[in-house]
Amino acid sequence: MKTGAVGIVTPDGPVYEDHVEMISTKAVSGELGILPGHVPLVAPLAIGSIRLKKEGKTDYVAVSGGFLEVRPDKVTILAQTAEKAEEIDINRAIAAKKRAEERLRQINQSNIDFKRAQLALQRAMNRIKVAQHK
Ligand code: ATP
Repeated sequence: MKTGAVGIVTPDGPVYEDHVEMISTKAVSGELGILPGHVPLVAPLAIGSIRLKKEGKTDYVAVSGGFLEVRPDKVTILAQTAEKAEEIDINRAIAAKKRAEERLRQINQSNIDFKRAQLALQRAMNRIKVAQHK
């Protein structure tokens, strides 16, 4: 199978570097599938998982937004945060989910903190889901 280079980087440094057959993820505009040779593209990403397929197996990385850039030689994902499934601390994510749910119960929906709590809940739920693929 044909493969292409991919790198996932965050402000804290690189998280994933490999050659893969296919990259699937959730862009803000919808599901995105990238095969080697894809036309150049920049797409904003939602909170979700990056699935990287190679040699019959799939690696999962949780990201909380950022950008995907397709260039002829490489796909680069610049993410706010990124964790490989096996690096996710599930207990921390469960605690973060509980905290966010508690905040959502307490604060007014018009409050700016409501949106922040919603995003924290989405990040935690995404990490819990991706951690199932350890
Ligand atoms: P928490 O409240 O647990 O800090 P958060 O969603 O507010 O969760 P972020 O601000 O998204 O955390 O991330 C801060 C840093 O911690 C990032 O480097 C991120 O990769 C890491 N991180 C957050 N949650 C986890 C987790 N459950 N397992 C491993 N790393 C995590």
